[in-house]
Amino acid sequence: MNANPMPRIMKQQKKSFSTRNETRRVKIRGVPIGGGTRVTVQSMLSVPTSDIERALGQIRELASAGCDIIRLAIRDRDAVEAFREIRSCVDLPLVADIHFDHRLAILAAEAGADKLRINPGNIGSDAKVREVASAALEYGIPIRIGVNAGSLPEKLARNEPTAEKMVEAARMEIEPLLESGFQDIVVSLKSHDPAMTIAANVLFAENFDLPLHIGVTEAGLPDVGAVRSAVGIGSLLISGIGDTIRVSLTGDPVEEVVVGKRILRACGLLKRGVELVSCPTCGRCRVDLIGVANEISRRLPQIEKYIQVAIMGCEVNGPGEAKMADVGIAGGNGYFLLFKKGKVIEKVPQEAVVERLLVEIEELAAVSDD
Ligand code: SF4
Repeated sequence: MNANPMPRIMKQQKKSFSTRNETRRVKIRGVPIGGGTRVTVQSMLSVPTSDIERALGQIRELASAGCDIIRLAIRDRDAVEAFREIRSCVDLPLVADIHFDHRLAILAAEAGADKLRINPGNIGSDAKVREVASAALEYGIPIRIGVNAGSLPEKLARNEPTAEKMVEAARMEIEPLLESGFQDIVVSLKSHDPAMTIAANVLFAENFDLPLHIGVTEAGLPDVGAVRSAVGIGSLLISGIGDTIRVSLTGDPVEEVVVGKRILRACGLLKRGVELVSCPTCGRCRVDLIGVANEISRRLPQIEKYIQVAIMGCEVNGPGEAKMADVGIAGGNGYFLLFKKGKVIEKVPQEAVVERLLVEIEELAAVSDD
């Protein structure tokens, strides 16, 4: 008999999945970013800021989708004036996004921006960045230093971008600001490549305690972009890195918020509303599970309370998952067993199961957690 102890087959995990990286906290119109507070979801208007009616319409859509912070492009002085008017009509935090002309950032701060976003690669000299910081200090608003792999500062732009160069670009802007006493800084390091985005943010988090806005930039059309974003943003969040997120999709910004909230939910960082767990089905399934799951999903009530619902095809994994959920169903031959809080409460024919499950979800939603 081998007297040797069993070899270690699992490396010790350095950090719990649930541990968030410690960062400073900044506030954007009262909404905190960093310092262990909840991870917020951001998006950016796709219409010109100077088209006030359309901008307000898109802001309303984003707000009802659950967007926490909204960014607007400031191209010129007309956009600054439009921003001022939009600001007066909206409660959500609004971020002014400025490239090239630092004077627009100063004007946007005066026009009521709740945060400024500038890119060190194209805003120009340290002196200009310091002028922007001085305006931000005067109006009590944070600045996001947004580094993009595709627009690194000139001295770093030779050859291919790397995670190290991205962090260096951020450091070049951050250190003078910190030295001048400006503290309210959020940083983003984005690439279209999820792996480079992850590497840059991990490296940054190892060296700085500033809050991180994370996202995979230019992620693509919604189907592919959602996957690329889930890989990049999700990996970082799971390892505790990231204080606010933006999914960048070639499409409707509302879709960015929907995908962002799905990523947060998958990472266990959004415990609100109904979360569905459903099996992929296989040759053992003797109910129309896909039809039932789709109909339930379509008819789910919009609620604040967090409720887990399991929709399972058979007796293999069905009872286990259904027991773990708040309410669940496990398929048999043309019927489902209905589980609630770990116990079977009823046998329901397939034709009635959607209505029956929805009643249980509504009832759970109506019960107070106190
Ligand atoms: S729960 Fe049953 S039907 Fe669903 S995938 Fe597993 S074995 Fe197949």
